[in-house]
Amino acid sequence: MKRLLKGGRLVDPAAGIDGDFDVLIDGDRIARVDRDLPATLADDGGVVSIPRGLVVCPGFIDMHVHLREPGQEHKETVATGTSAAVAGGFTAVACMPNTSPVNDNAGVTELILRKAAEAALARVYPIGAVSRGQQGEQLADIAELRAAGCVAVTDDGHPVATALLARRALEYTSMFDMPMIEHCEDLSLKGDGCAHEGPRAAELGLRGIPGTAESIMAARDILLAEMTGGRLHVAHMSAWTTLEAVRQGKQRGVKVTCEVAPHHFTLTDDWLASPVPYDTNTKMNPPLREARDRDAMLAGIADGSVDAIATDHAPHHYDEKHVEFDRAPFGIVGLETAIPLTLDRLVHSGLIRLPRLVELMSVNPARILHVPGGTLAAGAPADITILAPDLAVTIDRARFRSRSKNTPFHGWSLRGGVAATIVGGRVVFANREVPALALEEATSSSPARA
Ligand SMILES: [Zn+2]
Repeated sequence: MKRLLKGGRLVDPAAGIDGDFDVLIDGDRIARVDRDLPATLADDGGVVSIPRGLVVCPGFIDMHVHLREPGQEHKETVATGTSAAVAGGFTAVACMPNTSPVNDNAGVTELILRKAAEAALARVYPIGAVSRGQQGEQLADIAELRAAGCVAVTDDGHPVATALLARRALEYTSMFDMPMIEHCEDLSLKGDGCAHEGPRAAELGLRGIPGTAESIMAARDILLAEMTGGRLHVAHMSAWTTLEAVRQGKQRGVKVTCEVAPHHFTLTDDWLASPVPYDTNTKMNPPLREARDRDAMLAGIADGSVDAIATDHAPHHYDEKHVEFDRAPFGIVGLETAIPLTLDRLVHSGLIRLPRLVELMSVNPARILHVPGGTLAAGAPADITILAPDLAVTIDRARFRSRSKNTPFHGWSLRGGVAATIVGGRVVFANREVPALALEEATSSSPARA
């Protein structure tokens, strides 16, 4: 099937494009991109006119998602998580290995990939564990994980336990040019903390986690990446001191990249006190920090120091979150709020322009994980995110496709949303609230994708 997306603004920074271009899709690939492509190039009924104001982008990739399967299917499954992903405008997600059992072997990786193929929604790139069982003792069989389809390794949920293990992981992954993704946290400094260490936690009587708990581990791993030549990716960066360490590493030529989650550039620890005091949907790890940290994340996004925006989508059941603050699990869902928050807080605020947003959410995640996508050049997979930057969106957790609803953004009114999501040439999400968009969601499942 040849389909022509006609009209709309195309933003493809990897190809140097920002303007009125048409996109011809042939099957699951991009065939041509040019101005005013003739409708005759498409098959009968294959011309889709993109209403003015919508923006066609290479598919967004969320490189930090917890899909919870296997083992915690009451929170999320590969099917519900990828359904949330496409509704949130993501054509691909990378999923963390802290499942039960842990994704530290080919069997678990293959199970996740099989579930993803059955769901046939977003592409799923499993991330394997650094250590067996994420116990921080023995290195997992990284070659086996790689061969089974893992695109990176991490012990996310925990830091890599020792400098020696992190060194070995960086040495090993560099043989495959894979990144080691680090959940940067010094557990002795974290202790049993549950909120950012500062005046707000003190006032609420909550035990604190200092920003230094994060940056000290980032500094360790940046030094180890420098020593080994391995590639380090700093997950969910939250502290201004971590950003400084990353900047210094980059200046020295260390292969270090980093990501920021929407909640860390949107919220501060003031949200722990109001409007709902002790709202467990403001509890995540790393914690919401103070204004200085939040502003540093915004500055890093603007000046190019931050490589990617990733959600750290962390679904938890209502009953698990409906307990005292210090007993609740860390984390919030993020797949279905990321694009409205990003458009509203970063683009409409004037901090960045759309090409930079596409870099942060498509180009760079593809580059860091070495996965397809990040561009709509001819021959690339037809993975496309269509944005509706001026759509008025009210976040309603009751409408989430995710199995979990743990978000602090319920009821927020934001400007900007998703119009449609296309994966491998199939329309997997079309937003009925976007007027005049003549796209229909594919009804039948396509054959399983790799
Ligand atoms: Zn983490």
